[in-house]
Amino acid sequence: MQLIIKNAKLRNLETLMSIGIDRGKIMAIDHHIDADAEKVIDAKGHLVLPPFIDPHLHLDAVLSVGDPRFNESGTLLEGIQIWGERKPFLTKEILKKNAIEAIKWEVANGALKIRTHADTTDPTLLTVESLLEVKEEMKELVDLQIVAFPQDGIFTTKEGLDLMKRSLEMGVDVVGGIPHNEFTREDGVKDVETVFELAEKFDALIDIHVDETGDDQSRFVEVMAKETINRGWQGRVTASHTTAMHNYNNDYAFKLIGILKRAEMNMITNPFDNSVLQNRTDGYPRKRGHTRVDELLAREVNVSIGHDSIMDPWYPMGKGSILQAANLLLHTAHMSGYSQVSQLIDMITDNSAKTMNLAEGYGIKVGNQADLIILDATSEFDAIRLMSECLYVIRKGNIVSVAHPATRMLNFGGELRNIDFKL
Ligand SMILES: [Zn+2]
Repeated sequence: MQLIIKNAKLRNLETLMSIGIDRGKIMAIDHHIDADAEKVIDAKGHLVLPPFIDPHLHLDAVLSVGDPRFNESGTLLEGIQIWGERKPFLTKEILKKNAIEAIKWEVANGALKIRTHADTTDPTLLTVESLLEVKEEMKELVDLQIVAFPQDGIFTTKEGLDLMKRSLEMGVDVVGGIPHNEFTREDGVKDVETVFELAEKFDALIDIHVDETGDDQSRFVEVMAKETINRGWQGRVTASHTTAMHNYNNDYAFKLIGILKRAEMNMITNPFDNSVLQNRTDGYPRKRGHTRVDELLAREVNVSIGHDSIMDPWYPMGKGSILQAANLLLHTAHMSGYSQVSQLIDMITDNSAKTMNLAEGYGIKVGNQADLIILDATSEFDAIRLMSECLYVIRKGNIVSVAHPATRMLNFGGELRNIDFKL
């Protein structure tokens, strides 16, 4: 065997297991594996999960915070404005350097599959070109999907639609849109319809930034669901953000969630950005810009969690940890019930795999590619609570990242004890 992991705590199993890996694949999962191995890792009862997935990131903007200036109002619109000021000065070198660095942060935090958006509204399409190159250069480390994302709208400029088409011809995987950012409701509907037409033509998946506003009149996700049902595109369509749903009246939201379920829509919530960007005009009381995560999950709509920004004009913080995003969502979406902790883990693993249409071959099962992580926690509860580090990140049976958590020796009454925040 290439690698054996002993004493692994797997989800929903009480007894610790061994995982045997050879030629990049999981060959055996058993109480004990009696075979020679080039390398043995003793997981010591730590939680072993399939790798995390980040289904919503903007790799063209990462690590650019403060350049050319910081976002003082904290709003989405000032963020878009600053990004617009930065765009003319972008170079491929800077774009790729920042994107690759952020990918490394995400991988060290356990994410081995990432869906990134690439802004298509710059006529040079430098962002698309750069991220396509990054995808190829980083493929040994991470599976990258790229979305053609019209940040400023498809119909707010003459060339918007042409740039989307060109991006798809260049080889991006997913068609994006931004209906709430078009000038009118009618253009917003046209934005959604156009995305579906392009996706059909290029046989691509769909992931639209939709209703990312506090405006309770922003109702484009219903148009997405209708198009999905009418065209028979169930399972291939994702609605990102849908923060306006937070502010819809309850009767409308109840009806809408039924349609989303019927359309088998994938929903992505982005706790970092949406906790700071939305509802900035509320005054007090202040609502929070999250979609209705618990209600969607309760009605079996697939919901996953994205990181969205890492140190960019929209969100100045972040270190590429989707586990930290799940911890934040626990608070802002009121998901602190014990069984909901397990749902949060689903949302950064299996649910995201489904969203990215990568569920086949994903997971800790015999025959699957040997991609997995060993967390510095013995339970899902502790993984979320501690936002645990990944002791090991393993891809195709190779160790790609190792962490040595800090030791903190506390001296009390002459007794030294390592404080690791665990019971
Ligand atoms: Zn986004």
